[in-house]
Amino acid sequence: MNTNKEKNLTIQNVVKTFGKVEVLKTVNQEVRAGEFFTLLGPSGCGKTTLLRIIAGLELPTSGKVILGGDDITSLPAPKRQVNMVFQSYALFPHMTIYENVAFGLRSRKIAAGEIQRRVAYGLEMMGLDPMKDRMPDQLSGGQKQRVALARALVNEPDILLLDEPMSALDAKLRARVQEELRQLQRKLGTTFIMVTHDQDEALVCSDRIAVMNEGQIVQCGSPEEVYDYPRNKFVAEFLGAANLLKAKRCEGGVSTDIGSFTLAKTPEWHEGLVAIRPEWIRIRESQPEQNGLLATIQDIVYRGTNFDLLLSPGALRVRTNSFKHFKVGDQVWLELPAKELVVLGE
Ligand code: ATP
Repeated sequence: MNTNKEKNLTIQNVVKTFGKVEVLKTVNQEVRAGEFFTLLGPSGCGKTTLLRIIAGLELPTSGKVILGGDDITSLPAPKRQVNMVFQSYALFPHMTIYENVAFGLRSRKIAAGEIQRRVAYGLEMMGLDPMKDRMPDQLSGGQKQRVALARALVNEPDILLLDEPMSALDAKLRARVQEELRQLQRKLGTTFIMVTHDQDEALVCSDRIAVMNEGQIVQCGSPEEVYDYPRNKFVAEFLGAANLLKAKRCEGGVSTDIGSFTLAKTPEWHEGLVAIRPEWIRIRESQPEQNGLLATIQDIVYRGTNFDLLLSPGALRVRTNSFKHFKVGDQVWLELPAKELVVLGE
């Protein structure tokens, strides 16, 4: 299989309009060869359109797509070393699994021996060899997805594009397939670009995530970077639960409706927002030295592996491993550690 590590992809000033609607507003992004890159955003933000432009299924209104230094903006999809796995998998119902995987290679008139070698490798890689003679309707959702992946991978693409690849799977299978997909990408070293609106999926699978909103990439970074240091309100809220506090800059930190807090970084604004994740707020036995807040428990929400305490003032959400020591109405000391309070931009 292809392990070409040289071909970076560059999206350069890409704009796409449909009629009067600007669906992509000047997107600039580099995708490094060999990385698992995810476009994450809400429905309608333009992520599928960007993926289709990379695939060659859509032309940008302006801007360029460059792969390994070559301008491929107008290169037709079949001539690109880029393969797309569709949401629906699009398997041929009347062909066996083997024939489904071999189909693309046969239509490209590749020598029979080479087809056999590549298909055997693809089936083995995806654990499909025992079911190669079955028809698609004799497979589970997860197995069909593996066939769709095998069919794309036997073409040895430089880049594999995945459009919401797990949307047809149930929650349990989805969690397993996310990890499998990540492992597969590491093993192959092929660049994967995935589109999803599911933040967990993006966090589990990706080397880097580009968070999109309204036709723009708002923030791009490793899962830890975008989760721990969201750039603005949109990213903070889209990636997990965040407590957002309206704040005014003051000496050494900010003042908010629920108190004054020291920050690790001075905000550039006079008035703005600071965010803190529920899991970063600490519950203390007594008043902490810094950034303490006396709060009252209003509700306790069971979340499987942990609990969310909802507290006043400020409708704060705090995530804990146990609620044993707490009941609604209790007063507790909270600490909002300075280094966990993230200053948000516009
Ligand atoms: P979803 O997750 O719902 O698929 P998305 O982020 O992938 O959303 P796109 O499919 O890229 O979003 O669509 C972005 C916007 O462009 C939407 O408002 C959509 O209605 C519009 N759009 C997409 N394709 C076309 C088209 N061929 N003609 C007109 N408008 C289009």
